[in-house]
Amino acid sequence: MSYLVRFYQGQPHRVAHRVHRVNGVEGALCSQTPRPATGDTTRSGEWELVETLPPGVRLCRVCQKIQHKLDNPLPLRVENELERLAFWDPRAAALQRQKMLAYYRDKQLRQRRPSRNQRR
Ligand SMILES: [Zn+2]
Repeated sequence: MSYLVRFYQGQPHRVAHRVHRVNGVEGALCSQTPRPATGDTTRSGEWELVETLPPGVRLCRVCQKIQHKLDNPLPLRVENELERLAFWDPRAAALQRQKMLAYYRDKQLRQRRPSRNQRR
């Protein structure tokens, strides 16, 4: 995944965003519009996609939260269950975690892109 960074006179702004694509527009993960989008130009600079965060640049808090949820979509309740299971049977818990991750990732995708499902 790439980062959306605003550059002004070659200098990156201190806060960057993760990106996602909504209706063909690639832009900030924290915005459904999404805004800012890649290539947006304002008086304070131009938004560009980079593969790594420039030094001194941090990720916007909302993007951070969303990213965390994408990385680990398991609800706390499921995490707790897995923990209990791991106490008795770590291998079964690991398998169960994979299953749950697949389930919740799939569920998340369906929630995030309702239009794609409607077309079927
Ligand atoms: Zn953001």
